[in-house]
Amino acid sequence: MKLEKDSLTILKEALERLDGGFAELPDVNAQYDKDALRGVLLEVADRMQDNYPYFHPCYAGQMLKPPHPVARLAYMLSMWVNPNNHALDGGRASSRMEKEAVAELARIFGWETHLGHLCAGGTMANLEALWVAGKLNPGRKVLASDQAHYTHSRISDVLHLDFEAVPCDSRARMDLKALEDSLKKGDVGTVVATIGTTGTGAVDPLPAILELRDRYGFRLHADAAYGGYFGLVDNLSDETAASYRRLSEVDSLVIDPHKHGLQPYGCGCVLFRDPSVGSFYKHDSPYTYFSSSELHLGEISLECSRAGASAVALWATQRLLPMTRDGEFAAGLAKCREAAVTLFGKLEADPLFLTMFEPELDIVIWAPRANRSSEVSRMSKQLFDAAAERGLHLALFTYPARLLREAWPHVEFDTESVACLRSCLMKPEHLDWGDRLWELLLDATHSISK
Ligand SMILES: *Cc1c(COP(=O)(O)O)cnc(C)c1O
Repeated sequence: MKLEKDSLTILKEALERLDGGFAELPDVNAQYDKDALRGVLLEVADRMQDNYPYFHPCYAGQMLKPPHPVARLAYMLSMWVNPNNHALDGGRASSRMEKEAVAELARIFGWETHLGHLCAGGTMANLEALWVAGKLNPGRKVLASDQAHYTHSRISDVLHLDFEAVPCDSRARMDLKALEDSLKKGDVGTVVATIGTTGTGAVDPLPAILELRDRYGFRLHADAAYGGYFGLVDNLSDETAASYRRLSEVDSLVIDPHKHGLQPYGCGCVLFRDPSVGSFYKHDSPYTYFSSSELHLGEISLECSRAGASAVALWATQRLLPMTRDGEFAAGLAKCREAAVTLFGKLEADPLFLTMFEPELDIVIWAPRANRSSEVSRMSKQLFDAAAERGLHLALFTYPARLLREAWPHVEFDTESVACLRSCLMKPEHLDWGDRLWELLLDATHSISK
């Protein structure tokens, strides 16, 4: 068995319990053609086989992590009610669960008070954070590193805010000298610090950025869509941990439960340190908010209709696996980082490969060794295919040559960018599967032509 199915019996039991709560209603029978439905669903099962096996430890490529069974089941269970967390009228229980779950996320960063909510994902969450930032600093620039998610420049465009990319150092983190040069121009309103870049998991040096905020004054937003949860683990490098310790001092923060938080897609989260920014969301809906004086989440979010099921799934996951430093969730995340450091150690020690820097989180970047950057790219692509043929699924990643010159002094750079391999080791199982994946990687590497 490759897909977990045992937990489905619990869904049936919980569905009976849920049904019991509506016992006083007159009976209704759902009207649908069961045979036709069965035919379609089996067709879906056939169609869905055309995917990489994201749920399996042999998938060690892009940023994809299977939801926890409890998240899957809680999401499905709530589908029978299908709540809408726009307003309490559409989802009372799930709105309360959202507030509880989001407060627990805020506490990871030491925030006992906050304003925040779930949304479709990191893009939407960052959009809301930059929208508020733009309201507070109209006409002033947004800065993010050139390794920050591309969404920041696009969002700035949507919001009609000027955007400037700050160059990175050789470890893919925002270069402080370059940042200060931009700040000196005096037109910066917001700096986005990426806490775990999507490409390499690099963490921008937050303590130094906070020091610059004291001197130059700007709004500081942390994009921790990928890396946020690593604030719970105890095996980061001292330097990386120092950035996490200061996260409570940023003005807003984004964390994606659908990245490392074991959730199905459609679950991002934006958090503001100062709850008074809620006033920017003010509107006067003629449709929704008449049922109670309790806060409707639609009053503090840009999206209107939203899946209450996402909140239910997140709440259930955090109920089972609390967001504590000494809990099972944090231990699983620490294993991901250990898996990445272990793989990096093997790659670094092997003359077949080129490496860059020790992973700060759980993302490893490397390439097959060659003398010219064009050769490195060609061989990376070959290795990607050769590994997939052996059942090991990696990702390709294009990296700027200028960030590699220092790490690869013996490589001749005849291209502006280099195709490398990338593994997001997002499953705790990746630690135990390390030797097996390494053997597959070596076998694939020996098979490609120099
Ligand atoms: C994934 C990611 C985003 C975008 O989030 P989505 O959930 O894909 O919309 C933004 N920033 C970072 C750092 C990310 O890793």
